[in-house]
Amino acid sequence: MPARPFDPLAAVRSPAEPGFDLLLAGTVFQDIIFTGLPHGPEPGTEIWSDGMGSCPGGVANQAIAAARLGLRTGLAAAFGDDGYGDFNWKILSNQEHVDLSLSRRVPGWHSPVTVSLCVDQDRSLVTHGHSAPVTNSELIGKPPKALAGIAELGLEMETWARAAHASGVKLFGDVGWDPSGEWAPVRLENLKYFYAFLPNQREAMAFTGKDNPWSALYALADRVPVAVVTLGAQGAMAVDSETGEEEWVPSLPVKAHDPTGAGDCFDAAFIVGTLAGWPLGDRLRFANLCASLAVQEVGGSLAAPGWGDIADWWK
Ligand code: ATP
Repeated sequence: MPARPFDPLAAVRSPAEPGFDLLLAGTVFQDIIFTGLPHGPEPGTEIWSDGMGSCPGGVANQAIAAARLGLRTGLAAAFGDDGYGDFNWKILSNQEHVDLSLSRRVPGWHSPVTVSLCVDQDRSLVTHGHSAPVTNSELIGKPPKALAGIAELGLEMETWARAAHASGVKLFGDVGWDPSGEWAPVRLENLKYFYAFLPNQREAMAFTGKDNPWSALYALADRVPVAVVTLGAQGAMAVDSETGEEEWVPSLPVKAHDPTGAGDCFDAAFIVGTLAGWPLGDRLRFANLCASLAVQEVGGSLAAPGWGDIADWWK
């Protein structure tokens, strides 16, 4: 594995200290992305895209973005027993510095696939497959040392979230799928294990039952120390109830070719700033910058910026 180019946490922890800066748990999907579509598909018609990407998706988005920003990143995930599983395992471990010692291949299980169809600056998703049974039983009992963890707020992660929280890991959460419906109260209840929660505006409103992103943000801030709501091309806003800071930052005025994984890239950068001890406004600006750079490139997780890409913008 090539040497890590930059250690953003060198000032706050010894590089020789064992363990991960960030441990992620979830499912790796195979993302297939088509960009520049004139409109969504209609029955009986053919449409052409101007670009295409194929890359690790799901929890791999956050893992790659975090590793590229220099975090020592561990991933506990199930990988399919197929060509996509081979491809994703190799990219994460050989190319992207992600530690897979807590991950495993699941015999006979096919990787779930998501096709992203990008029209203008938005996208539609077609998904096949299901999340793998990674998890509680595999992770609990051998909690690796980590400064921070990130989990999608799904029911199957609840036990892991509780154990990670109990062992002092600072937990960040995002939403992996539709957060409304009968499970919403259970998931809201699980927020008590989290330090920060970072849904997009649609998820935040569905989750809290509020009709606008600001109300949703404040409803979440009643439950977690740091609530963040991302607003796509409008940027992001956050409240830190511990320090009393409130911030909103606009996005960079960029042309978004591929918004796949933008929220995950945002999450990873926000975690870097948090672990480095930055004020809320700097964390938001940095996360927003990284995500804004990522959406300009086609490639989902593989469009996440590293420090070399950011240097000119972040002085
Ligand atoms: P995803 O599901 O693709 O991971 P998301 O829906 O969770 O993303 P968004 O709110 O769409 O999250 O976007 C996250 C961040 O990405 C935004 O806060 C912003 O920083 C950046 N971003 C997204 N879309 C654009 C855009 N069109 N122009 C500039 N920045 C963007």
